[in-house]
Order: sequence, then C-alpha cells, then structure tokens
Amino acid sequence: MQQILIRGAERLVTMNDAGEEIAGADVLIRGGVIAAVGQGLAAAGEVIEAKGCIVTPGLVNTHHHLYQTLTRAVPGGQDALLFGWLRTLYPIWARFGPEEMRVSALVGLAELALSGCTLTSDHLYLFPNGARLDDTIEAAAEIGLRFHPTRGAMSIGESAGGLPPDSLVEGEAAILKDMERVVDRFHDPRPGAMLRVGLAPCSPFSVSRALMRETAALARDKGVMLHTHLAENAEDVAYSLERFGCRPGQYAEDLGWTGPDVWHAHCVRLDPREIGLFARSRTGVAHCPCSNCRLGSGIAPVRAMRDAGVRVGLGVDGSASNDGGSLIGETRQAMLLQRVRNGAGAMSAREALAIATRGGAEVLGRDDCGVIAPGRRADLAIWDPGGIEAAGAWDPVAALVLCAPPRVRDLIVEGRPVVRGGRLVTIDLARLIERQNSLARRLAG
Ligand SMILES: [Zn+2]
Repeated sequence: MQQILIRGAERLVTMNDAGEEIAGADVLIRGGVIAAVGQGLAAAGEVIEAKGCIVTPGLVNTHHHLYQTLTRAVPGGQDALLFGWLRTLYPIWARFGPEEMRVSALVGLAELALSGCTLTSDHLYLFPNGARLDDTIEAAAEIGLRFHPTRGAMSIGESAGGLPPDSLVEGEAAILKDMERVVDRFHDPRPGAMLRVGLAPCSPFSVSRALMRETAALARDKGVMLHTHLAENAEDVAYSLERFGCRPGQYAEDLGWTGPDVWHAHCVRLDPREIGLFARSRTGVAHCPCSNCRLGSGIAPVRAMRDAGVRVGLGVDGSASNDGGSLIGETRQAMLLQRVRNGAGAMSAREALAIATRGGAEVLGRDDCGVIAPGRRADLAIWDPGGIEAAGAWDPVAALVLCAPPRVRDLIVEGRPVVRGGRLVTIDLARLIERQNSLARRLAG
C-alpha cells in the first residue's frame, strides 16, 4: 500500500473537537487514509517536506454549478438581480452540449483544487443537447477530486408560468427516471467513497410540488441526499408567499425537504423560526457569500444559524454568479460578511476555516472527511505562507483567511497528490484554459 509522510509542518490544524493545532507535526498517510498524526514519525514511502507550511483538512465546497465557468462575466448578466440574471443566461446555456459540460467542469474543478478544495458537490440542473451528469463525473475523475454531483432538474418552463425557456425543461417522468439511473450507476455509499450522487430539483420556482415530493421519496428509498436553492433573496420569498401561501422553510418542511439528509443553498432570507426548524431537523445550509454579494441577495444570518446549531458549509456557487471559484477566497468573504452584519467579533478567521473544512464535510454527510485524525480520509491541503500575501503575518493560520487568498502548495485527495508546488499534476492546465476559452468564444459568437 502506498505511503506518504508529510513531515515537519509549521502548524497542523486538525479541526478536531478540541480545535487542536500541532506545531512541528507529521502526518502519515497509508493508502487513502490518515494512519498517524504526531511529531517525529518514522518515514515510510514518499516524504513531502512541509517545513514552514500550514496543513489543514481539504476545503469542502457544498454548492456549485460547474458548467457556469463558461459564462463568467457575461455583459448582460453583470449587474442584474437573480431573476433577470437567469433570463440573460438561460438562452446561452441552452446551446451547451456534452463537451461544454465536461470542459467547463474540468475548469471549475481545477480552480477549486488550486484553492485548497478536496471535496466538492455540484448542482447540474439542465441537460441540453445530450449533456448528462456523466460528463461532469468524468471530469472529476480526471482531476482527482472527491465528488458529490447532484442530478438537478427544471420542469416548469415559460409557457407554464416558470422562469426558464421551454427548451431547457424536462418532463417530470423523464427526470425521475434519469435520477434513478445516475444513483444506481454511480452512487457509492461506502466510507471513503470518491463519488456520491444527490438529487436536486433546481428550486421551488422551477419544478412542481409533486416533483419535489417524489424526489424526496426517491432519495430516501435510495439512501442519497437532497439539495436545492432556498430563500435566496427577497424575490424568492415573495414568490413563495404568493404562489405557495407560505414561507420557503414551511414549503420545504411540508414537502419532506428537511432533515440530516438535506442541504439547501443560500438561505439568505431564513427568519428566526426557519432557523429553529433547520436546527431541530438537522437540515444543512450551503452559504455562498460571494454569490450573495454579486447578486445583491443580502447577508445570510450565518452567525444566528451557527448559534442555533444549524450545520453550515461554504459554497462558491456557480461561476456565473461569483465569477471566481476560489474556496479559500470564499472563506475570507464569509468571515467579512458576518462582520458587516454583526460587528468585528462576529466571526474569527479560525471559525471561518472550520466552516470551510469540517463544516462542509458535515453538511455533505461525510464523517470520514473534514478532520485530520487517524482513520479519517487523507484529504489534506498544504499551504506555504512564504508568499507575498502573508509576508509579515504574525499568525500564519489566521493569515490564511485574513490575508489575500493564496493558492494551495500541495493538495492530497484520498492519499493521492492532485496539486504539487502550486501546479495541478493531473491535467495540463494551459491546454484546458485554451480549450475553455475557445468554447466561450464560440458561444459568444
Ligand atoms: Zn446556485
């Protein structure tokens, strides 16, 4: 079995219950698992020197639409609110096919990896021109990240009073059939799984109540997780009140969309009762601070959620509404945004880092990831604070979040190196960028 020793880290941030940080620490990896953590461990197999470096658990991204990396900074969507932004982008996405899905996913995954992310979910809810969830799954296997894709869906098109064009929606029977197909084909429930599939109608305003209910039933039958967008902004809440006669939290609860196997993206506008509901039911939240800022959606009540015991992870969200996919950058933004709302003491750099690592792993139901301890999966990020952005920092762990977002030096997923010396080793990045840009030019032309 392959062994790697990470030797002599300046500081090892374990994210264990005691919040332990160990100076001069080694980590021994055997196969895909952490075998030992401590000082002066005997070298076995390959040695990665971590002198002067900070080692953290890999960051976990709980919300993304990888395909959107092909529509960053689209002029018509740059300054719009959520619904107007969607109307600008739908016709462009309608021209995607399998190649666009695969290449854009590779780009999104590569960007995440370079920002310290080892595990990401994805929410793909449109399948034009033969595109399938399989295209993104291939991409994740190529990059080498642990992947939780979700099979999304939209079924209410413009002609039925919905937001997306009719060409981008699918029939509900076909949706459920493909959901079943991808779960049966790809979902791996075992500890250490590199691939777990979830089910994820796009949002309450793009599918029927029946599909929400049936998806929940299918997910529970198959033992997979549920994901959607919820209470993203004021328009979203107004739509829920007008159309469903209740707030989004109530709607979710009525349809079986609360529980430890459910996580909702955004939740910017949850009120105190809904926060209580999420805490009681152990429902998770994917907080996407940059996207919320970019679309002017508001500041999610993350402080109140955490204080109430709600499980919160971070998400970069789709690259079209964030434009950047740096998860360590998102960690910084999460911290800053809670301070805008609640004052400078509202969230420390270390708490933000905990949300980005262990918090995300918990939201995705991964008690085998998110903490550096013997027996956990070997998903690790090694950060070199020797760069310009942290020069002069007194606390290198806090500097990871307080200073400008760095690139990870080394990234290890399931005991396998994905990034080394700041470079992806699993893919030719320059060629990938070239391919992506030529696809973007073709879509723009
Ligand atoms: Zn989203």
